[in-house]
Amino acid sequence: MKTVIIMLGMMSLITENSYGFGSRRSSGGSTTPSTPAPTQPAPPNSDIGTGGLKVVIRESNRFSSSGLALLEKARVALEKAVNSEEFKQKVLHFTYDGQETYVQNNGLTNLQIYNKIMAGAEEFPSQTAANNTMDLYTEYYTSSWFGRNVVGYTSPDTSTIFMNSYFFNYATPDGVAGNMIHEWLHKLGFDHDYNSTARRPASVPYAVGYIAEEIAAKY
Ligand SMILES: [Zn+2]
Repeated sequence: MKTVIIMLGMMSLITENSYGFGSRRSSGGSTTPSTPAPTQPAPPNSDIGTGGLKVVIRESNRFSSSGLALLEKARVALEKAVNSEEFKQKVLHFTYDGQETYVQNNGLTNLQIYNKIMAGAEEFPSQTAANNTMDLYTEYYTSSWFGRNVVGYTSPDTSTIFMNSYFFNYATPDGVAGNMIHEWLHKLGFDHDYNSTARRPASVPYAVGYIAEEIAAKY
């Protein structure tokens, strides 16, 4: 009889484990999300009312194991950077030609651009929900010698961000972080001059990419 009781006890333990977090769920109807919160608390932001922007790498194709490690370091630094108060202030108060504005801003104010970033609703290749997540699909490639000066690229018809080995193999985590968000901002519909014009650094992908990279270097 004693043996039977012990076995029943073990079975209930196993059942609970198989559901994962069973004891937490039963302890009070909390609405805490099951995904981990950003390492740093997000700045108070009544404009968006969220806990910040998560950075998630959904795909990482053709990378070596050391490449994957670099990608992960970049992801962590980027997530800390975009959720920092410094990032918010620099994005909100970016100026071009004496005005708080970006070039090729799609008709949006700096605040609207910041909120759009934090909402994480990609528009290309197709519209996604505002999940407060930077969803990244990455792929390592080696260009021809003539393409060696390209850091990375993407196009509106794909989710994938292509990262050039000529850049990536010598990159720091903050450099990769800057490239990730630059390419991702194209997924939000922001564009820039193809050629290196005087105004191109004030486009959203370049300007916000540099801001994020600079802050990511501190983590
Ligand atoms: Zn670009």
